[in-house]
Amino acid sequence: MHLGILGGGQLGRMLALSARSLGLEVTVVDPSPDAPARVAAQHIVLDYSAPDLLGRLGSVDVVTYEFENVPQEATERLASRVPVFPGPKVLGVAQDRLHEKTTFGQLGIETPRFLRVDSGADVERAFSDLGPLVLKTRRFGYDGKGQVVVRTSEAAAAAFETIGGVPAIAEELVPFDLEVSAIVCRAQDGQVARYPVTHNVHRQGILAISEAPAAIPAELAERAVSAAQKLAEHFSYVGVLALELFCVGGRLLANEFAPRVHNSGHWTIEGAKTSQFENHVRAVCGLPLGSAELLSPSVMVNLIGQVPPAARLLALPDVHLHDYGKDPRAGRKVGHVTARAPTAEAARRLGAEIERIIQQGGGLQASR
Ligand code: AMP
Repeated sequence: MHLGILGGGQLGRMLALSARSLGLEVTVVDPSPDAPARVAAQHIVLDYSAPDLLGRLGSVDVVTYEFENVPQEATERLASRVPVFPGPKVLGVAQDRLHEKTTFGQLGIETPRFLRVDSGADVERAFSDLGPLVLKTRRFGYDGKGQVVVRTSEAAAAAFETIGGVPAIAEELVPFDLEVSAIVCRAQDGQVARYPVTHNVHRQGILAISEAPAAIPAELAERAVSAAQKLAEHFSYVGVLALELFCVGGRLLANEFAPRVHNSGHWTIEGAKTSQFENHVRAVCGLPLGSAELLSPSVMVNLIGQVPPAARLLALPDVHLHDYGKDPRAGRKVGHVTARAPTAEAARRLGAEIERIIQQGGGLQASR
């Protein structure tokens, strides 16, 4: 079987590595000649909108993607000739925050209060309704980009210009206790693998640390995973889906979902019986899913900017380094480290130790 992957970043690379170990042929499309996935797959250097995309992909049996900003129209063209999972329809929803949050509401998944914004005056109106808010572009936002926090009515009108004067949504600023993600994988026959809920810590809008399982009441975790599963079932979804939520008091408010493997699921490579990458590949290729059960409490720390000396990290017990092979650059995700331990407390201590090593390692982290 031959798998095509749109996008050759670290997610594409980890997908390709899993696919290769299952014996698949893998071709990755990415316009960048040094896409990290190139080491694990045939790499076509091509724009996703290129008219000859399908021809260049050749004999692929199925296509998936590693990021949600791949042009929906390109996936639609492909889907008329070859199965594309997750399907173009769900991609269209994930690409538009207004559409996304409206869908959550239709499915009974609670969200922060939000309003559509098309002008500076809309932001002022939203501020008088919601109070402090986060203004987010409807499209092409990621890792905190394309968004600004508005805390005063004076700042409201200017905020619209700050995000580029494009269609947006205003969301109430949620005083959350913690952020979590629920990751599920749905197979073509409807089988669903549900990973333990992960607790995520963001800095500067970028994921810094994930801990699994999240230390939240079982009932709350169940609700989070059920919401992700409901979303997957609504779309007759195939592959891994990640739903990010805010926990505030006993409430869960859905922030966004990703129709793809997710940074907060990287710990599953060592910490779960079957990684999110392998299960995604199994799902899109029509294979049975593996168990998503936890093997041991795990902490994943993102390496942002540069990779610290491997020897220092690997001297720690049950610590695993993933270096994406990217050039160092401030604010860039260049790798991650996962620590496993017999208890959540011990995993957290290892995570803190990893963070200390990173801080000693250099100055290319996003400033805190
Ligand atoms: P997003 O791009 O929507 O995932 O936002 C990036 C990060 O900004 C989130 O992980 C939160 O830490 C923060 N954030 C986003 N929306 C809100 C909100 N409505 N209230 C408070 N914090 C938010």
